[in-house]
Amino acid sequence: MSTLDCLIAGGGAAGCYAAITAARRGRRVGIVEHNPKGELGKKLRITGKGRCNVTNNCDRDTLLANTPRNGRFLYSAFSACSPADVMEFFEALGVRLKTERGNRVFPVSDSAGEIVSALRQECRRLGVQVIPGQVTDLLLE
Ligand SMILES: Cc1cc2nc3c(=O)[nH]c(=O)nc-3n(C[C@H](O)[C@H](O)[C@H](O)COP(=O)(O)OP(=O)(O)OC[C@H]3O[C@@H](n4cnc5c(N)ncnc54)[C@H](O)[C@@H]3O)c2cc1C
Repeated sequence: MSTLDCLIAGGGAAGCYAAITAARRGRRVGIVEHNPKGELGKKLRITGKGRCNVTNNCDRDTLLANTPRNGRFLYSAFSACSPADVMEFFEALGVRLKTERGNRVFPVSDSAGEIVSALRQECRRLGVQVIPGQVTDLLLE
């Protein structure tokens, strides 16, 4: 393993998005993933009944108002990354999106697998290293 600037624990949706964001900013990034094959985005395949409800097509404040329990906690996250940003992110990766009842956004293909493939391909393109294994401790200095 070469020297990394950034090591991410867990290659789910959040880990992949963080890895891509850091790698696009020029960081050398690794993801430690503890499922048996070190597979990225595995859980995403079952989300939205296999279709993956990517986001809601609304503005930040509507999203916050509809977040159950302590939505303010997400204020800075939703400010840094709005639903429009999420849609733009996936569309730039070639995923066509559609908005359904309740402003729910899905891939036109109705396939969560397309979302997983887009994240994996972008991680690969950016040279993100996937390190199979389990994070057991964080050393904070
Ligand atoms: C049935 C179901 C349907 C859902 N549908 C939707 C939906 O349509 N839209 C939506 O937005 N959300 C949905 N969710 C919620 C969804 O799970 C999350 O949005 C998304 O998976 C969260 O991503 P995450 O990266 O935070 O966590 P996860 O997807 O859980 O990813 C965490 C990753 O970290 C790894 N990991 C954990 N601990 C360690 C460790 N110590 N060391 C190394 N690796 C580790 C795990 O193996 C996993 O791969 C659904 C959830 C369920 C259960």
